[in-house]
Amino acid sequence: MSISENIKKIKAEIPENTTLVAVSKTKSKEDILEAYETGHKVFGENKIQEMTEKWEELPKDIEWHMIGHVQRNKVKYMAPYVSLIHAVDSLKLLKEIEKEAKKNDRSINCLLQIKIAEEENKFGISVDKAKELLSSEAFQQMSHVKVVGLMGMATLTEKEEKIRKEFRFLKTTFEDLKKDFPSLYILSMGMSGDYHIALDCGSNMVRVGSAIFGERNYN
Ligand SMILES: *Cc1c(COP(=O)(O)O)cnc(C)c1O
Repeated sequence: MSISENIKKIKAEIPENTTLVAVSKTKSKEDILEAYETGHKVFGENKIQEMTEKWEELPKDIEWHMIGHVQRNKVKYMAPYVSLIHAVDSLKLLKEIEKEAKKNDRSINCLLQIKIAEEENKFGISVDKAKELLSSEAFQQMSHVKVVGLMGMATLTEKEEKIRKEFRFLKTTFEDLKKDFPSLYILSMGMSGDYHIALDCGSNMVRVGSAIFGERNYN
């Protein structure tokens, strides 16, 4: 199936109040334009430099989401335009985003990445750390950065029950934190291989790459 057929099919599958982030990392501008021409406007990238090049050349009404791990010294390149940063995992990073957002006279929305998988190589913070961060004086004084939700990645496994358990944990955490921090409303979980499970577990934002654009070639 083509990119435009894939995107239409996935959009038909997900609830209306759920955001589809089309993950276009490594994919060409032509591929992105094919998706864009179906009316889709939300794209995700995991490298700031690649995202910035695409932002410069593609239509300006695209919303760019940074879904990858963020290096602090590169925040400045995306601060003028990024619409959501999914993988914030420290107060230091929030401080940098605050600084760069202020320079650009805008406010930047962020998600905290919670570690829900067992794999060592996955980024993210614990629930306690997230609470500590959101309650901190330093964070509460920030006026150009908003934490609007949580993001998580399940373990890469065939075992559906395990994935389901990790997503359920994140959903429970989200509901729990929302009581104290009502600014949280986005729960970003689910990728090509597991977005059906994530939706079942209460996700309202899925990040889908290969199921739209096909397999990625890293070279
Ligand atoms: C690459 C990536 C995705 C999309 O992965 P697919 O399996 O191709 O859908 C989602 N989230 C993050 C954080 C990613 O890096």
